[in-house]
Amino acid sequence: MTSGAQTNDDTAEGTTEDKVVDFYDNFTEVFREIWGDNLHVGYWHDADDQAPVEKATDQLTDQLIERLAPQPGRRILDVGCGIGQPAFRLAGAADVEVVGVSISKYQVGRANERAAELSLAGRVSFEYADAAELPFPDASFDGAWAFESLIHMPDKEKVLREIKRVLRPGSVLVLADMFSQPDTELTFQDIISSPEMGDYRAVIEKAGFTVREFTDITANTLAPQAVRETIIAGLLARKDDVIAMTGPEEFARMVDGIRVPNSYGYLLATATTD
Ligand code: SAH
Repeated sequence: MTSGAQTNDDTAEGTTEDKVVDFYDNFTEVFREIWGDNLHVGYWHDADDQAPVEKATDQLTDQLIERLAPQPGRRILDVGCGIGQPAFRLAGAADVEVVGVSISKYQVGRANERAAELSLAGRVSFEYADAAELPFPDASFDGAWAFESLIHMPDKEKVLREIKRVLRPGSVLVLADMFSQPDTELTFQDIISSPEMGDYRAVIEKAGFTVREFTDITANTLAPQAVRETIIAGLLARKDDVIAMTGPEEFARMVDGIRVPNSYGYLLATATTD
């Protein structure tokens, strides 16, 4: 390798991490206006569930909380915390301490402000960190989740090993993420990439976790027709802001993807450390 050689996820304009930082520092607020405080997909229980996005995204958080089954007093790591909404919901469901990390300093600042506003700052805090190099000692957490964040991390095995390092033996990791389908590779502007479902499971196991549950919830992440119309209306109302983030072609693809959804998959996994 020459001195100018780059790793897989690097391009001339910077690393994947640089681009993810840029994306979230600049577009978290646009995202929020369209989607709400949860920066993840919605979960609809069944065909009768017509929940709006704001409620459906909380419903997905509840699926993760159920799987984490946190006991009072536990210390939970939130890997890729956004602006803290899932962490606040977790802290509301159980008397736990939550430490969230994000690679976006903007998000960390907003999340800590919100924790103070909610009088949760004593139990819920956020720090700037790259998930691949967590600033925590070995075995310093009792549980963790990576909630739609590994999608931004090309070397998922490395990050999962790092998460495992900071977990005590017998801890639970809950993972929620999108995955590629055989006919649709999930990849976007170097900041999103994810393998197919079977390969994803293999990565979790390779990192040293025991997979206890691995569920394809793609069908539940499919918004009902009426909700989809609302999402499209929201996107069109902020078209210029969104195009600044995605470019015009991706914007068109995005709107089409909401009209005729489900080109990618979504998984929930529960894994434990020995
Ligand atoms: N879990 C949150 C946010 C999901 S968006 C929610 O559900 O609302 C993805 C998150 O992953 C963002 O907060 C982003 O900053 C974070 N992220 C992406 N790459 C990261 C990395 N290498 N290290 C730490 N956080 C990262």
